[in-house]
Amino acid sequence: MDDFLPPPARVFVAGHRGLVGSAVTRRLTAQGYRVLTRTRAELDLRDARATAAFLRRARPDAVVLAAARVGGIMANSTHPVPFLEDNLTIQLSVISGAHHAGIPRLLFLGSSCIYPRHAVQPITEDALLSGPLEPTNEAYAIAKIAGLVQIRSYRRQYGASFISAMPTNLYGPGDNFDPATSHVLPALIRRFHDAKEAKLTDVTVWGTGTPRREFLHADDLASACEVLLRRYDGDAPVNVGCGEDLTIADLAARVAAAVGYRGRITFDPSRPDGTPRKLLDISTIRALGWAPAVPLAEGIAQTYRAWRSAPDTPA
Ligand code: GDP
Repeated sequence: MDDFLPPPARVFVAGHRGLVGSAVTRRLTAQGYRVLTRTRAELDLRDARATAAFLRRARPDAVVLAAARVGGIMANSTHPVPFLEDNLTIQLSVISGAHHAGIPRLLFLGSSCIYPRHAVQPITEDALLSGPLEPTNEAYAIAKIAGLVQIRSYRRQYGASFISAMPTNLYGPGDNFDPATSHVLPALIRRFHDAKEAKLTDVTVWGTGTPRREFLHADDLASACEVLLRRYDGDAPVNVGCGEDLTIADLAARVAAAVGYRGRITFDPSRPDGTPRKLLDISTIRALGWAPAVPLAEGIAQTYRAWRSAPDTPA
C-alpha cells in the first residue's frame, strides 16, 4: 500500500494544545515524525498574513488542522458567533496558506454535527448536505461544512492532496471541564466529582437523558489521523468513531460509577437535548486498517484521573 507520509516527515499541528491537537502531537512524535507547533501567542491562526508567512518559512511536509473554536451545546446555542467566525477565519488562513506555501498534504478535522439532524443511522459520509442541520450547533456546523468544501475545492481545482476527517464526540485528558462551555462527558465528570466531595445526594443532568451519543477517546482519533495521513487521498471526508453509542442517561450512570458518586441522578428537560442521535458509519476508516483501542470505561477512568491530577489544565 502507498505511504503518503512516512516518518520522519515534518508535520505542523495547528492547535497542539487542544484535546485533539495534543493527542495528534503525542501520536506523531511517538511514531517518529517531527512535529512543529506554535502557541496562540506566537501565531494567531486567524491572522491570514502571519499564518501564510509562517507556513512559507517553515514549509512542513503536512499540516494537521486541529485548531478550532469548540464547545458544548449551551455555548454553541447561546454564543454562535465565535463558533462561526473563528472557525471560518482559521480555516481560510490555514488551508489557503498551506496551498500558497506549496505544502503537499493537509488533514482537516470536521465534526459529526455537520450531518443532517435526521440522517439515517449509522451515518455514512454521503449524508453530507442531504437535509437540515441540528439548530443548536448550526453556526459551528456551517463553518465546518465550509471547511470541507474548501478542502474539496482545492482538490478539484489544484489537485491538492488535502483530506478531511469527521470525528464523532471526543473526550480525553486535556479536555475543557468548564461547566458552562464543556461537552457532556467532562461536564459530568466534574459535576459528579463535585457532588461526591460536597456529599450531595442529587445531581441534575441536562435534557431528557434519551439522546444517544458516540464517544471516541482522543488517542484513538490521533491514531486514525496517522492512518489517514499515510493511506488516504480521497475526495470524501472520512468518519472516525468507535461504532457504538449510548444514551446520555447510560453515560451519566457510567460516569457516576467511575467517579464514585452514589446519589440520585435526575434530568432537567428544560435544557436542550440537541440532535437525537449521531452514530457514525465507520466502514471507510476500518477498511484502511484502523480500529479504536480505548474502551469507554477505561477512557472515562483515565480522563478522570488526569483531570484530578491537573484540574486547571486549560483546553
Ligand atoms: P452535542 O453532541 O453537540 O449535543 O454536545 P454536548 O456534549 O454538549 O451534549 C450532548 C448531550 O448531553 C446533549 O443531549 C446534552 O443535553 C446532554 N448533557 C447532559 N448534561 C450535560 C452537561 O452538563 N453539559 C453538556 N454540554 N451537555 C449535557
